[in-house]
Amino acid sequence: MAEDTIFDKIIAKESPAKIVYEDDDIIAFNDINPKAPIHVLVIPKNKIESFNELDNLKIEIVGCYFKGIAKVAKKLGLSNNGYRIVFNCGRHANQTVNYIHAHILGGRPMTWPPG
Ligand code: AMP
Repeated sequence: MAEDTIFDKIIAKESPAKIVYEDDDIIAFNDINPKAPIHVLVIPKNKIESFNELDNLKIEIVGCYFKGIAKVAKKLGLSNNGYRIVFNCGRHANQTVNYIHAHILGGRPMTWPPG
């Protein structure tokens, strides 16, 4: 079984976080080291370690997570001006927490390509 990460602890309310949205399926909280005026992480309450696992999961689980991310972006007021969703997966992308998380970045224009 995978070791608990800081995000397991945030879900268990054993570690503090500025939670911006929560329901039965997902929890969204401010990134501790924001890279944009709005930088929120969205994670599923049922643990998925990385994007690599998504193709093994039931479509309902994946769909529920993705709908949750869209709902949070909308609640953050980002729909009009736009925003970026980032999933870092594995070593080359510098994934530092082994618990899947969508970065929602917004509140300023973004550049492309990412580094
Ligand atoms: P990644 O590099 O995609 O794995 O991103 C992990 C993100 O988690 C980084 O942007 C960190 O700033 C963020 N992070 C790490 N610990 C915490 C925490 N305790 N509360 C909020 N965000 C965190």
